[in-house]
Amino acid sequence: MSDYVARVLDIIKARNANEPEFIQAATEVLESIAPVLDAHPEYEAAGLLERLVEPERQIMFRVPWVDDNGNVQVNRGFRVQFNSAIGPYKGGCRFHPSVYLGIMKFLAFEQIFKNSLTSLPIGGAKGGSDFDPKGKSDREVMAFCQSFMTELSRHIGADTDVPAGDIGVGAREIGYLFGQYKRLKNIYEGVLTGKGLSYGGSLGRTQATGYGLIYFTDAMFKANGLSLEGKICSIHGNGNVAYYAAEKVMSYGAKVVTMCDSTGWVYDPEGIDLDAVYEIRFVKRARMSEYTNYRPNAEYHEGRYDWSVKCDIALPCASQNTLVLEDAERLVKNGVIAVCEGANMPTTLEATEYLIKNGVLFAPGKAANAGGVATSALEMSQNSQRLSWSFEEVDAKLKGIMENIFEQVKKASDEYEPKNYVVGANIAGFLKIADAMMAQGIV
Ligand code: NDP
Repeated sequence: MSDYVARVLDIIKARNANEPEFIQAATEVLESIAPVLDAHPEYEAAGLLERLVEPERQIMFRVPWVDDNGNVQVNRGFRVQFNSAIGPYKGGCRFHPSVYLGIMKFLAFEQIFKNSLTSLPIGGAKGGSDFDPKGKSDREVMAFCQSFMTELSRHIGADTDVPAGDIGVGAREIGYLFGQYKRLKNIYEGVLTGKGLSYGGSLGRTQATGYGLIYFTDAMFKANGLSLEGKICSIHGNGNVAYYAAEKVMSYGAKVVTMCDSTGWVYDPEGIDLDAVYEIRFVKRARMSEYTNYRPNAEYHEGRYDWSVKCDIALPCASQNTLVLEDAERLVKNGVIAVCEGANMPTTLEATEYLIKNGVLFAPGKAANAGGVATSALEMSQNSQRLSWSFEEVDAKLKGIMENIFEQVKKASDEYEPKNYVVGANIAGFLKIADAMMAQGIV
């Protein structure tokens, strides 16, 4: 590791001591771009890393709302506008009780490099709240979203910052947020992506992250002389990313045998029934324990999924740090070929290192799950043009973007550390940001 990286990592650890997720994300990126920094001493002279790891702006605000019993509730809202070197801030909003500043910062930091990899003009941001939509009525969710947007609307705009969905923020929440923005600002603009089709949404956005993950995985398999056909997949999660990744990988002839939510997991050796998952997750908003009502031969296990089912491809698509070293050891022992991250930072640093060391093809989230934000940028283009493209057109663009991301990642990894796609993604994403930041002076 270069002295410069070590020094900046020390600053990060001292300044953000209570934000382990942010330290984890920054450590991974900084350690892997060290060779580039050694080759470019002008970056150190310009304080590039010190500026890169400090958000341009971070907003924290009170979100008061009234629940169905007439009680006042107060949540905390966030928007971290991390880097606008290559375009207006862009990144989703997460509503989950675990949300705090450290999670927002890690996600916004990852988003900078992810957005850079898409080759589209979008900067990095993330937002959200510790509000939990689970178990709330539609009216409560609307009241919360309206209050959240009342403050957020001061800081965003179609050319400033364009939020989208993430964990806990789907079509319903985006609708309420958009309605309140329009009401407050009296502007009909593409200020959010992931909108409904009747009011400016893009066909293919809902599917984009999951489909994109599989397009990336397919490109990685082909480059390594492999095929998805006939492979066994284990998927962590059953939400937006997990569901559409399952649908797409099945269309390539693979079989998905496990899915989960945060309370339990199912193993269906005959292959997961996606219609059942759709009804449980998106229609009933129920728990995966109901799966065996649809498929009596499947197994339901209460608790955390420990990656113990033998599979060729593991797709962690739920949340951060859900695949730890012991899970990685189990996967390797069971002969896993590839781990491809649909979620953001689902694999710990130790687990990632172990997988790569053991020859597992590892697709890092900031590259492999970039399809969502890429299609969000396509939604922004359609909104600006006041046009709506067909599903086939959007999907074809998405596939092209994901293949291009893989090519960039592979090229950088071939140059610096062959087959290490973490290094490849971080370097390829960083170079463009560094170039733009250097050109724009000390800002
Ligand atoms: P959803 O809210 O649709 O689904 C989240 C899924 O993860 C649910 O199955 C949820 O279960 C599960 N989950 C959450 N926390 C945990 C946990 N600690 N352990 C086990 N399971 C958990 O979110 P998305 O599918 O949209 O997002 C999933 C991941 O993908 C996140 O990391 C997100 O940042 C990332 N991502 C999403 C994009 C998008 O376009 N949506 C774009 C790029 C990345 P439960 O319901 O029980 O909480």
